[in-house]
Amino acid sequence: MNNHEKIDTQCMQETDAAHHLHPFADYRLKKEQTSRIMVRGEGAYLWDSEGNRLLDGMAGLWCTNVGYGRKSIADAVHGQMVQLPFYNTFFHTTHIPAIELAAKLVEISPPQFNHVFFAGSGSEGNDTVVRLVRHYWSKKGNPERQVIISRNNAYHGSTMAGASLGGWQSMHSQGGLPLPGIIHIGQPSYLEGGKGKTQEEFGLEAASWLEQKILDIGAENVAAFIGEPVQGAGGVIVPPVTYWPEIQRICDKYGILLIADEVICGFGRLGYWFGSEYFGIRPDLITFAKGVTSGYVPLGGVLVGDRIVSTLMEKGGEFNHGFTYSGHPIGCVAALENIRILEDEKIVERVHSDTGPYLQKKFEALAAHPLVGNAEAIGFLGGMNLVRQKGATIHDNVPFDAALQIGPTCRAHMIDCGVIMRAVAGDRLVMSPPLTLTHAEIDEMIKLIILGLDKTV
Ligand code: PLP
Repeated sequence: MNNHEKIDTQCMQETDAAHHLHPFADYRLKKEQTSRIMVRGEGAYLWDSEGNRLLDGMAGLWCTNVGYGRKSIADAVHGQMVQLPFYNTFFHTTHIPAIELAAKLVEISPPQFNHVFFAGSGSEGNDTVVRLVRHYWSKKGNPERQVIISRNNAYHGSTMAGASLGGWQSMHSQGGLPLPGIIHIGQPSYLEGGKGKTQEEFGLEAASWLEQKILDIGAENVAAFIGEPVQGAGGVIVPPVTYWPEIQRICDKYGILLIADEVICGFGRLGYWFGSEYFGIRPDLITFAKGVTSGYVPLGGVLVGDRIVSTLMEKGGEFNHGFTYSGHPIGCVAALENIRILEDEKIVERVHSDTGPYLQKKFEALAAHPLVGNAEAIGFLGGMNLVRQKGATIHDNVPFDAALQIGPTCRAHMIDCGVIMRAVAGDRLVMSPPLTLTHAEIDEMIKLIILGLDKTV
């Protein structure tokens, strides 16, 4: 249904509650919790079934980098639907959208990437990564290199491998995870572990946990390290500047593959095509999804570096892995048009040197609010902690009693005021708006956030 005027909201909500199991939801509370029904999007704004206009400070789910309502993406998808809605890329067949998108992704990615493996989502991309790195080391003659090191509080998806790579105990405890050979070290959260240290000192310390873990299990057993350049769903954990260069040095020293999960950070969110470029690191693999199509159509995949591809080509042998929808033509044309928009409107450049720094300054100034203990932003990503009382340093802030659930309460107030943010653990609120925000829209978003905070005090 396109015309939200005609929607009977209550009836639709009851039908939703009766039949729809939502992701990441408590089904015991299903009957009591109604869901907001979104019906339309334009630019950075959404409208719900009751006609409320909301500034989307989360770009859907870290997705709609070019904003809503892009007719040219709809036209590209429609044209492809009519011409060839589906064909697979198995058994020596391919199609023009997959060929063109692979070439385009190689063009915009760092120089070590000349190949792409397509999947349907970020989780499938990370499943691919697990199998690919283990296959690589096998072919290389080091089959014992199986262990993949990830980090606590990381989010890498909801499939068995994705959730195993992720560092959420709440996910591990459902389904007997993590899978064998996936282990976790601490996250580079200055707020969590940096008390009494400078950011720089803490960054080096957090990176040293990787070296320690490698030494504990033996470098000869380690296949790869995986990390989001900035941990997103875990709370937008911005690492100290010393962290990633040291991680790169450690991976190089022990010959370990470096995997950047850029499902959130890719396609301009940090003011570069890929977040690893922001931090000056050279991953061997990059997982992507979300921003590649701005979420208009599901698509994910993995950029696979020359170091891996050259070995697989030299040694031969089938990689027994692939998805029916690997390189789905509809996803590929949506991605091509999305990337064209990002390029033509110079959106990545604007986030880099204009709107990104502007948003960062405005967002970080929210730390002056009595409810905000600290606020940090990088590119078009930001996070802030709500605190009961401020201390002399961010480590001395007094948190709210967890039972109060102040984060979700504040998020609800913000929605009432007209802006969507996301509440994560530890009374943290995060933002990840469309990359198209103008200065005026940034001002409006900050104003609405303050209104929501004021309502919560
Ligand atoms: N990796 C990261 C960093 C993510 O943030 C997400 C989703 O939020 C995923 C992987 C999983 O992607 P998907 O939900 O498309 O499977």
